Amino acid sequence: MITRFAPSPTGPLHLGHAWAALVAADRGDMLLRIEDIDQGRARPEWEVAIYDDLHWLGLTWPEPVMRQSERMGAYGAALDRLWEMGVLYPCTCNRRDILAAASAPQEGAPLMGPDGVVYPGNCRGSSRSGPRPTDRALRLDGDYVPDFHWTEDGQLRSMTAEAFRAAIGDVVVARRDMGTSYHLAVTVDDAEQRIDLVTRGEDLAEATPIHIALQCLLGLPTPDYHHHDLVRDTAGKRLAKRDDARSLASYRAAGWSAKALVAHLRKSRVAP
Ligand code: GLU
Ligand code: ZN
Repeated sequence: MITRFAPSPTGPLHLGHAWAALVAADRGDMLLRIEDIDQGRARPEWEVAIYDDLHWLGLTWPEPVMRQSERMGAYGAALDRLWEMGVLYPCTCNRRDILAAASAPQEGAPLMGPDGVVYPGNCRGSSRSGPRPTDRALRLDGDYVPDFHWTEDGQLRSMTAEAFRAAIGDVVVARRDMGTSYHLAVTVDDAEQRIDLVTRGEDLAEATPIHIALQCLLGLPTPDYHHHDLVRDTAGKRLAKRDDARSLASYRAAGWSAKALVAHLRKSRVAP
């Protein structure tokens, strides 16, 4: 089995990341992928800290490591393909436009999907001809998503096209400021790295149908999925991405050995 750990170098790794990496390494040969498409927040020193922390935990991975900032060409090629299929459209809405259209009085509270408010479709009529626009966000037209299925922890899961449209809608696959999106990059890269089993936290479980839909449209294989439980504090609240107090470096500085910390995580997903 090939698995992967895919951290973003936007801050210190905390206990939740350590658990995610351990799950990936337990389930197969773990590849490492640096998810640094958010160039406004990614920092080389955080990338170095990721390597240090993972080595401290006793984990290893094959080189070279995939770095998403070096993969913009691959994301562009996937977007070109989708654009030529006519399944993308440019969107110029800001948050306020979307909220205003989504919460029209007769419709009640706006419906929330994995990517925020389910897009009300304001820009669906935008032109889909000519070269692919790179100065606007691009949305995937949910009307082109087929019925699909995938396997999660050995269980067959499925989603109808209708359910996808209702619960997820037209998601952004290329952000204006990024030229790609988390969803597109993860889908393209999991295929490129030939991942057999995607392991990640249950907080990302609801994004999985978006990735399967993109795999269907791009003709990519669908791996198996496992969404693991999250590390929480003693109050039961899950650790936030920026919970620096729970960083691996801070436990290390406080005298924890990697062995003891790993043993603790395996026993309990409550931060010590
Ligand atoms: N880069 C994502 C994160 O750090 C993980 C993406 C994934 O595992 O699909 O939360
Ligand atoms: Zn729009």
